[in-house]
Amino acid sequence: MVRKEGQNCRNLRFKIHITPEQEKKLDDTLEYCRLIWNHLLSIKVELYDRFGLSVSNSSLENHLKNLDYPIHSSVRLDVFQRLCFAYDKFFDDLKKGRLKNTKPKKGKFVKRKDVPCGNNSSGFIKYGGILPKGHPKFKSKEDFSSFRYKQHGNGWKLEDNKLYLSKITGKSKPIKIDIDRLPDGELKTCTLKKEGKQWFAYLTVELPDNPVPSTPTNAVGIDIGLKSFITTSDDDFVEPPRFLRKAEKRLAKEQQKLAKMEFKSNNYNKQKQKVNRIHRKVASARNHFSHCLSKLLVERYDLIVFEDLKIKNLVKNNRLAKSISDVGWNKLVQHVTYKAAERGKIVDKVDPDNTTQVCSYCGTKKKEKLKLEDRTFHCSNCGLEIDRDLNASANILTKSSYYNPTTHTVGLAGMNGCGDGTSTTGPGISSQVPSMNQQMLNLVKG
Ligand SMILES: [Zn+2]
Repeated sequence: MVRKEGQNCRNLRFKIHITPEQEKKLDDTLEYCRLIWNHLLSIKVELYDRFGLSVSNSSLENHLKNLDYPIHSSVRLDVFQRLCFAYDKFFDDLKKGRLKNTKPKKGKFVKRKDVPCGNNSSGFIKYGGILPKGHPKFKSKEDFSSFRYKQHGNGWKLEDNKLYLSKITGKSKPIKIDIDRLPDGELKTCTLKKEGKQWFAYLTVELPDNPVPSTPTNAVGIDIGLKSFITTSDDDFVEPPRFLRKAEKRLAKEQQKLAKMEFKSNNYNKQKQKVNRIHRKVASARNHFSHCLSKLLVERYDLIVFEDLKIKNLVKNNRLAKSISDVGWNKLVQHVTYKAAERGKIVDKVDPDNTTQVCSYCGTKKKEKLKLEDRTFHCSNCGLEIDRDLNASANILTKSSYYNPTTHTVGLAGMNGCGDGTSTTGPGISSQVPSMNQQMLNLVKG
């Protein structure tokens, strides 16, 4: 429960310091990878278009060996596997009916006369068709930004903050990389990514399994919100910092502008760069916020219960707000999950069904649904009046199979008879303990 397969990998991003010579080689490798992608894709598309033939993955992989580019074999193989993955996803989406409108939208898909596929002899393969929605696409330079070495010790190596990349650095001139500390575990992949004009290295580390405490003592339920970023069952809350909200709103606005522009026009390209720039800023601010908050949560609690986001239908009438909060949420759950695993703590996810409708004190379910603007939960059975998010977070905690009513407290101080009963009306700031929100403000700044 605590850790599923694939969850025990951490992906870390590091700044690298490269010489102009190394930068050229990184750029070249990226371009070769893009050409390989387009080349393999063109084979599949052409044969299917002209003769209705599907190329098997194994024959495509064989063909890969014939392309002679000066890049490491595992990097080349990774491009092929990414393409296979993109195709798998496309067919899966088709099968599950996720691509209902498969007719290409006007202007959204590039019609290309010459696709640079650079199989060294001819250089170009012509493709004049339009690919259907969801189909893997030919990549322009702007939409191809990374390549990957798949295995530590095979093509790439990290030693004393130096990065050795086969066919790029050679043995005598490794790349300097800024690493303070790596988590204990086994190094796996190394992805080189170009973000704007800068190159970064993403390393994945597989973490060892950690023990799980048999009886978690401090437990918390966490409600997803729009008003507050989180509300805890301890009657606490955290808001995203103002700069993050502002940046997210700006990003959404610029993205909407972009969507209205003519695809690939001059203005579109300019706007796209602008959006990318803001996007990177927002992502890094979100990341920082999420790391601080997850750290705080994992330090405080042994059992942390979230709603399962996959089945949570957060906000029906505000799609913008939803997409923003979803991104932040997924990130937080991810960060809390791995940090908890590292320290042998438990993260649980529960079905969010009815968490807002049921009274967390007496268990009575409300007949009429709470509206989005109703901030207070009122129980007609026991008379409880409580902030709706606090009520929900308490329900989330008690839904967990790890929750134990004799050892865990839910933050309804007055109602449980285990507090001074002053704070049941909302996630207010307690006067003695610094609120999480205050702690977060300090953390995010520092
Ligand atoms: Zn009640």
